[in-house]
Amino acid sequence: SYGDLRNATDGFSSSNMIGSGSFGTVFKALLPTENKVVAVKVLNMQRRGAMKSFMAECESLKDIRHRNLVKLLTACSSIDFQGNQFRALIYEFMPNGSLDMWLHPEEVEDIRRPSRTLTLLERLNIAIDVASVLDYLHVHCHEPRAHCDLKPSNVLLDDDLTAHVSDFGLARILLKFDKEYFLNQLSSAGVRGTIGYAAPEYGTGGQPSIHGDVYSFGVLLLEMFTGKRPTNELFGGNVTLCSYIKSALPEQALDVADESILHSGLRVGFPIAECLRLVFEVGLRCCEESPTNRLATSEVLKELVSVKERFF
Ligand code: ADP
Repeated sequence: SYGDLRNATDGFSSSNMIGSGSFGTVFKALLPTENKVVAVKVLNMQRRGAMKSFMAECESLKDIRHRNLVKLLTACSSIDFQGNQFRALIYEFMPNGSLDMWLHPEEVEDIRRPSRTLTLLERLNIAIDVASVLDYLHVHCHEPRAHCDLKPSNVLLDDDLTAHVSDFGLARILLKFDKEYFLNQLSSAGVRGTIGYAAPEYGTGGQPSIHGDVYSFGVLLLEMFTGKRPTNELFGGNVTLCSYIKSALPEQALDVADESILHSGLRVGFPIAECLRLVFEVGLRCCEESPTNRLATSEVLKELVSVKERFF
């Protein structure tokens, strides 16, 4: 109930606020009935599209299960004490916050900043987790769907750094059409994703599809191993994160890698340049301009697992 939630989150005060997104604010709370720590996303109903996002999130997460998906425990719709309509989504709490915080600690406030950086192996494991959930969503779940807004702030980390993909407010169930899954025309209206991560065809009226998710994954992968945001001002004009890396490969993989990876306790003689080059190549093959030239998620998964097996 609203009363329980209000008590649980101490009246949704700023002290237990853990983040805010496009459609609402997220609080850490203790559900008194179950003595369980949860994350409560209180929707800002004044925001255009908030209701649609709430429905899409409930619809998308209600009948799919995967170890790398964030668990939606319940949704709540009620009237608060002032008579305002109130909606909240209640998720399993992810103690290590979002991947975004780990990749850009300098932008995080002191109390939430991770105390160290991610190692090469941890980054690889997170990338494999995200690729396996995409593969599940695109091919293996009973109604294939596209996430449509994959980015580091939507990848949440458990206490052992297992990744859980969240934020299904833009996700859409796909229709099978001519051996390809595409979104149906009606349901695709308004899907744009986030600048820097959204596939180029989304900006020119192209149908959102599983290939669009692969593009976003490619950007995420390149960001994870360079520590650079795709919207970094370094890449002004026509230079994107992809073209920046493309111009450095194959020789200078070390020059573009996130500095902290190079000092992350790898054994002496570890062929780090070779390992990074292979990861960057997977990222670039996900970011091909033409949607059908991009890797399929099953191939992405296979490539990343084989990099891990070869080097660790
Ligand atoms: P956005 O709309 O920007 O994608 P959300 O509203 O879903 O983001 O979440 C905003 C932030 O709140 C996340 O980036 C994350 O730091 C935090 N957050 C969201 N869900 C959880 C959760 N289940 N556990 C811990 N932190 C969370």
